[in-house]
Amino acid sequence: MKKQIIVSGAQPTGNLHLGNYLGAVKNWVELQNSGKYEMYIFIADLHSLTGNQAPEKRRQQIMHTAAELLATGIDPKKTTLFIQSDVTEHTDLAWIFNCVTPVSELYRMTQFKDKSERQEKNINTGLLTYPVLQAADILLYHGNTVPVGQDQVQHVELTRDVAKWFNNKFSTDFFEEPKALLTDVPKVMSLLEPSKKMSKSLGEGHVIELSDEPEVILKKLKRAVTATEGGDGAPGVKNLLLLLQHFADKKIYNDFVKAEKDGTIRYGDLKNVLAESISNYFADFRKRRAKLLNDGFDELAEILITGAEKARPVAKETMEKVRELVGIR
Ligand code: AMP
Repeated sequence: MKKQIIVSGAQPTGNLHLGNYLGAVKNWVELQNSGKYEMYIFIADLHSLTGNQAPEKRRQQIMHTAAELLATGIDPKKTTLFIQSDVTEHTDLAWIFNCVTPVSELYRMTQFKDKSERQEKNINTGLLTYPVLQAADILLYHGNTVPVGQDQVQHVELTRDVAKWFNNKFSTDFFEEPKALLTDVPKVMSLLEPSKKMSKSLGEGHVIELSDEPEVILKKLKRAVTATEGGDGAPGVKNLLLLLQHFADKKIYNDFVKAEKDGTIRYGDLKNVLAESISNYFADFRKRRAKLLNDGFDELAEILITGAEKARPVAKETMEKVRELVGIR
């Protein structure tokens, strides 16, 4: 039987954080290691162009994101790991999809609305059409399973629509509709504003990066909002307990849940224990990441070039068929 095809990506806009990890990356590694899927994971550098990152920073962060994905356990022997812009068919297909996608559908996207508010001086066209590029990213490889966090579900729904619009317009069943695959933690919240998702764009203190040193993790957690601050702090405590559930022993987690219920919980203790648990959990990750980065970028570049070489023939085949279907060949 043909393996299900998984496609997903991460933007090189900053180091991976706990939201990326629990919402997506941890799942990628598990799916990869199950051996049941054909996996494509890419570094979404073209998507990052919709933001305000400086070119030098982007160049460096592409390599850092690659190193971090490898350090979490993404194995280039099992997963096709590549840089999105190395396979130019992504933008070729995105253009074709732009021409079947009603613009009104893109204005509805909550990410577009959120990001437009956050970068009001740079509401570029890419910010609006980014979900169309995402549809191309997925359908180029005939992906049927897309493991993402909650924030991307609407875009995967749009990808389903794009497949339908394309198929209808060109009287074909060439594109299958993919499905989003969520983890049991589809949304990790910010430490400082727990009503918002943990995101690099909110700023330093809002996120814990996987590469943060133990003292940095503790410092960030000490500032995290709990029930004692700002009145309605309960979502902050819920978020910290959720992290504890994933990074600490079951017994420790259960004890804190009980203390929270009977009102004896001490947030200082919770933060100390959580900081230690997260630091320990990612100790090996930090070592592997440092080694990959200390070895220079040559080995990483080699891995990414090999990944693109594996992805390209699949992408080319899809685009040839698409050209034929739309009548530009
Ligand atoms: P990004 O590159 O920032 O778009 O994110 C890479 C992956 O992490 C995507 O699948 C996102 O849905 C997921 N993700 C990002 N932030 C969070 C969060 N706070 N909670 C859960 N998943 C997240």
